[in-house]
Amino acid sequence: MDAVTSSPRIAFVTGASSGIGRAVARRLATDGHRVVAAARRVELLDELAASVDGVEPCELDVTDLDAVRAAVATTVERHGRLDVFVANAGVMPLSRLDAGLTDQWNQMIDVNVRGLLHGIAACLDPFREQGGGHFVTIASIGAHGVTPTAAVYCGTKYAAWAITEGLRLESPPEIRVTTVSPGVVESELADTITDSDARQAMSEYRRHAIPPSAIADAVAFAVSQPPEVDVNEIVVRPVRQR
Ligand code: NDP
Repeated sequence: MDAVTSSPRIAFVTGASSGIGRAVARRLATDGHRVVAAARRVELLDELAASVDGVEPCELDVTDLDAVRAAVATTVERHGRLDVFVANAGVMPLSRLDAGLTDQWNQMIDVNVRGLLHGIAACLDPFREQGGGHFVTIASIGAHGVTPTAAVYCGTKYAAWAITEGLRLESPPEIRVTTVSPGVVESELADTITDSDARQAMSEYRRHAIPPSAIADAVAFAVSQPPEVDVNEIVVRPVRQR
C-alpha cells in the first residue's frame, strides 16, 4: 500500500452480495480497509467474509430507511467512524413502458433512487460529526443516455447522477463525492428481466461485458486519493461499447 492509501478506512458497501458491490468490497478489503458488506442475501455475504479478511457481513434492505440508518449507526458504534459509503445496490428489470410492468418500475425507484437517498440520509450526520467522509454512487452510463426498454431504469440512474451531483455541490470540502458510471459489466443485473423482448435484447447488448473488478478499480482509485482531491466522476465501459 503506498502513502496515499496507507490509512485504513472504514467502508460500507451496499449490494455487496454479487457483481460490482462484491468486487468493490473485496478490492477495498484487499487494499487494507475494513468493509461492511451489506445486502439481503446474507449467506453470500458470509461466504465473502469467510474468503476475504476485513469484510463484515450486514443483512440489509436499502429500501428500509430505518434499517439503513441502524446499519450505519452500528458501523460507527463498532468502529468509531465511517469513512466511505458506496451506494451500489441496484436492480434493472427492463421492459418497454407499454408492457405496463408498474411493480417493476416502482421496485427500480425504491432500490435505485430511494435506496441511494437512504444511504445519504444515514451518512451525512456521521460524516459531519467526524469532520469528513466519502460518498460513492454507482450510477450507470444509463445516467447519460436512454435506450428503449430502459426508460425507467435510466430515469433512476439520471436521478442517481443528479442527486449525487447535488450532494457534491452542497457538501463542505471535507466530504468527498464520487459518481462511478459503469458500462456493461458481468453480474446478475440482467437476471431480473422478466420481459422476454427486453431479455433477448439485453443478452446481445451484454456480449462485451467487462469484469466487475474494472469498476472496483475505479472505486479504489477514487477512495485512495489524498483528502484534498475529489474524483467527481468516472465512466468505465467496455472498449466495444459505444
Ligand atoms: P447485481 O445484480 O449482480 O448486484 C446487485 C446488488 O444489489 C446485489 O448485491 C443485490 O443484493 C443488491 N440489492 C438489490 N436490491 C437490494 C435491496 N433492496 N437492498 C439491498 N441490496 C439490494 O448487479 P450489478 O453488480 O451489476 O449492479 C450493481 C450496481 O451497478 C447497480 O446499481 C447497477 O444499476 C449498476 N450498474 C451495473 C451495470 C452492469 O452492466 N452490471 C452497468 C451500469 C450500472 P441482494 O439481492 O442480496 O439484496
